Amino acid sequence: MSGERGEAHRADTYHLVRAGLTGGKGVPDTVATHPAVFVTLTAPSFGAVHARRDKPGGHVEPCHPRRNAGTCPHGRPLSCTVRHGADDGRLGQPLCPDCYDYTGQVLFNALAPELWRRFTMALRRRIAKAGGLTLGELRDQVTVSFAKVAEYQRRGVVHFHAVIRLDGPGGPAAPPPGWAGHDVLAGAIGQAARAVTVDTPAAPGVPSRSLAWGDQVDIRPITTTGELTDQAVAGYIAKYATKAAGCVGTLDRRIRATDHLDQLPVTAHARRLIAECLALGALDEMAELRLTEWAHMLGFRGHFSTKSRRYSTTLGALRAARIEHNRREHQTTTGRLPLTDEDQVLVIAHWRYLGQGLTPGEALLTAALTGRPMPPLDPSAAQQGSTA
Ligand SMILES: [Zn+2]
Ligand SMILES: [Zn+2]
Repeated sequence: MSGERGEAHRADTYHLVRAGLTGGKGVPDTVATHPAVFVTLTAPSFGAVHARRDKPGGHVEPCHPRRNAGTCPHGRPLSCTVRHGADDGRLGQPLCPDCYDYTGQVLFNALAPELWRRFTMALRRRIAKAGGLTLGELRDQVTVSFAKVAEYQRRGVVHFHAVIRLDGPGGPAAPPPGWAGHDVLAGAIGQAARAVTVDTPAAPGVPSRSLAWGDQVDIRPITTTGELTDQAVAGYIAKYATKAAGCVGTLDRRIRATDHLDQLPVTAHARRLIAECLALGALDEMAELRLTEWAHMLGFRGHFSTKSRRYSTTLGALRAARIEHNRREHQTTTGRLPLTDEDQVLVIAHWRYLGQGLTPGEALLTAALTGRPMPPLDPSAAQQGSTA
């Protein structure tokens, strides 16, 4: 996704995220008074990669300056003193590809939607506990809603940015009870993020491991006037919604049986990640992760933006109109059918509330785990009929 289309997507995302923070598009303005935070849940490290270290004032620090660091078992230096430029092709590439934990990273991408699902469940439990309530009682008092965006870091691993908001039992029309404020929300997020893990399937030569979020869990309150304003957050989410497509260095389509891996126009790092997806995907024990099918996404098969259901009609309609427009335009200019939704790198999915069904990525995983048929890949279209 690029150019005009990326801009349209960015603008949509901005307005949709902003409406959830300040009102508009059917959301009452009073939503701005509800506790809301901006959260970043990162992936753990799977090995050192070249990085640009920006400092305030335009200063750039060396990449991995380690004195007397020596070399890895493959004879490669464990240090890099380059001050990488913003477009340096080495950014995000491992210092040593042979030391890099490709297996771990691919499995993290594959299981990130499940880790997010577990995080949201743990979050609700922590909030209930803070209020001295059971989960069932919480539902009668508080609705937890979110908008999240998956972002690929240059190293090819996904992480999530999310707005998480507390509403009254009916959603954004009513405020949550007084006890459910910023502090309770932020505290519960921190606890939940640190508590959740997901075990990977075990296969011959690939022992099961427990995956968790990285150490950096960033939680910042969103206010209309403070350090982090609703407008800034909406802009930030929109920026990453678009960035997700651009900087991964991978393919924008599925890998085909006729593809030669070494001829794909991708970075060496992406090639290794794709190869790892294909290798793991060939193992029966890993079948549920469908890594072969999602190798071009480096194992991640979730959607890139999911938001609360309350807005889905408006957003779905917006998006449907855009897709139809693009389809016609694409056919006109190329004479070919465009990629289908499921192949698109970036999809605005739908808004929904926690606890009221699965996000598309979660639904896909559930379908994969249970063998039930896959849900429609355009959930906003599927939801329009059911949303009041
Ligand atoms: Zn470097
Ligand atoms: Zn090495």
